[in-house]
Amino acid sequence: MRKNIAAGNWKMNLDLASGKKLASEVINMVNDEVQNDAEVILIPPFTHLTVVKQLIGSSTSVHLGAQNCSDQKGGAFTGEISTEMLQSVGVEYVVVGHSERREIFGEDNALLAAKTKAVLAQGLKPIYCCGEKLETREANQHFDLNKAQIEEGLFDLSKADIQKVVIAYEPVWAIGTGVTASSDQAQEMHQFIRGLIAEKYDQETADGISILYGGSVKPDNAKELFSQPDVDGGLVGGASLKSRDFTDIIKSF
Ligand code: PGA
Repeated sequence: MRKNIAAGNWKMNLDLASGKKLASEVINMVNDEVQNDAEVILIPPFTHLTVVKQLIGSSTSVHLGAQNCSDQKGGAFTGEISTEMLQSVGVEYVVVGHSERREIFGEDNALLAAKTKAVLAQGLKPIYCCGEKLETREANQHFDLNKAQIEEGLFDLSKADIQKVVIAYEPVWAIGTGVTASSDQAQEMHQFIRGLIAEKYDQETADGISILYGGSVKPDNAKELFSQPDVDGGLVGGASLKSRDFTDIIKSF
C-alpha cells in the first residue's frame, strides 16, 4: 500500500546554523515521539543538504529532499544543480514544479516533464507539484488545470517510472496564506488526480501513488486532512520551520 509522507519544504529560509538546529531537533523528536510509520522528508536549501544528510545519518524514517534541479545532465549551466550532484550528497527526493517555480521562474509543464525524467534517470524520486490559482478555481477550471499539469508533466512516463513519483496537490491560494483547502476540497482533487492515473495506467498503479496536500498545513488541521482517503500526507512550508509544529504534523497520521 502507498506510504504516508510528511515533507518539510524549507524554501529559501534559514542560514546553515539555524538549519542544523532545526534538522537536529526534528530528527530527535521523530526518534523520541513518532510511533507511526510515516516517511519524513527534510527539504532544505541546496547549501544545507550535506550537513542535513550527516545529521540524518542512518535514520530509516527521515529522508533528504531537494527543492529543485536542472533538467540538464551537466556542463555550462551557471547556477544550476544537476540530479547527479544531488544524488552524490544523499538526496532521495526532488521537488519538481512547485508553484513558486512555475510562477516566479516561469517553469512550464514541458520543462517540468524534462526535470521529472532527469530525476528518475538518476534513480531519485520526484515530488511533482500541481495546483490552481484562486481565479482558476473561481472560474471553475481547477480540474482542467490540474489535469493538464498532471498529463503534460507526467503522462509520458512508463508505468515503472510513474510508480516512483509522489504527487503534491498545492492550491496556490492556500500556500503561505493561512487559508487551507477544506478537507473535502483536498479529497475531491486528490481523488480526481488518482482517477486520472488509473485511467492512464491502471488502478493498482494509481492506488500505490502517494498524493500529498500542500498549503497552510498546520498541527491543528493536519489530522483532518490526512484522514481523507486519498490524502497521503503533506508538503509543508511554513510549519516545517518549527520543529514542534512539524513533529506534531508528522504525528497526525
Ligand atoms: P505553506 O507552504 O505550508 O507555507 O503554505 C506549502 C508549500 O509551498 O509547499
